[in-house]
Amino acid sequence: MSTTEAQLAEVFCSIQGEGLYLGERQIFVRFAGCNLNCQYCDSPQALSVPKEFKVEVTPGKKDLKQLPNPVTADQLIELVSGLQKPKGVTQAVVLTGGEPLLQVDFLKNFLPALKQVVPLPVYLETNGVLPGHLAEIIDLVDIIAFDIKLPSATGLSEYWREHEKALATAYHKEVFVKIVFSRESKVTEMDQAVSLIAAVDEKIPLVLQPVSPHGPVKHRPNPDQILAMQAVARRKLSTVRVIPQTHKLLGMN
Ligand code: SF4
Repeated sequence: MSTTEAQLAEVFCSIQGEGLYLGERQIFVRFAGCNLNCQYCDSPQALSVPKEFKVEVTPGKKDLKQLPNPVTADQLIELVSGLQKPKGVTQAVVLTGGEPLLQVDFLKNFLPALKQVVPLPVYLETNGVLPGHLAEIIDLVDIIAFDIKLPSATGLSEYWREHEKALATAYHKEVFVKIVFSRESKVTEMDQAVSLIAAVDEKIPLVLQPVSPHGPVKHRPNPDQILAMQAVARRKLSTVRVIPQTHKLLGMN
């Protein structure tokens, strides 16, 4: 893949629907392609690389146009800049996916140039299993929403070692961890994830996210499971919030 061009799925403006910045207005750059294949992936449209990606023309209108992949850094900066309307209301530019760190060589060119034109914090959403790639761009991002993947909720094998290394790098910036869990998730694996976070710093905030309210009902955790998971996490961490996905309730991306 070219280091000066990116493969995208979508560029749009929306309200952040997850995590500690819930409710903030942000510009989203959704990169195409992922190195994982989670059971309840909420962005299946970004798992493969399309010939064309979607761009919102007017913020919030969903008046999408299609542009061809790949895109250059200059083209993407122009698209992001055009979504900064009205001035002063956008909190950050979000790099999401898919997994944006797969396109780390592009990010190394793109992010310094973006900052010159769009002086907003850069907010990286990552699956947290590419520590080497994260280290390459850590100085170019400001906020990191860091996933820890529980095998029970994702159907994936364990990524504890990768998560451990990547979180130690993410800790150089503002970071919070998000863990998606399902009815099948076990207290023991939650405890293992929480211990991993506490080993870096017990003050790193944790957001527990029950599997999407739009996913299969039989996999959604019960209220008593939600409270039990929070209690396990709270024993080792100072901030643990249960926050479900909300943007779909608003009819937003
Ligand atoms: S890491 Fe994210 S984008 Fe990739 S498969 Fe998992 S949920 Fe989907």
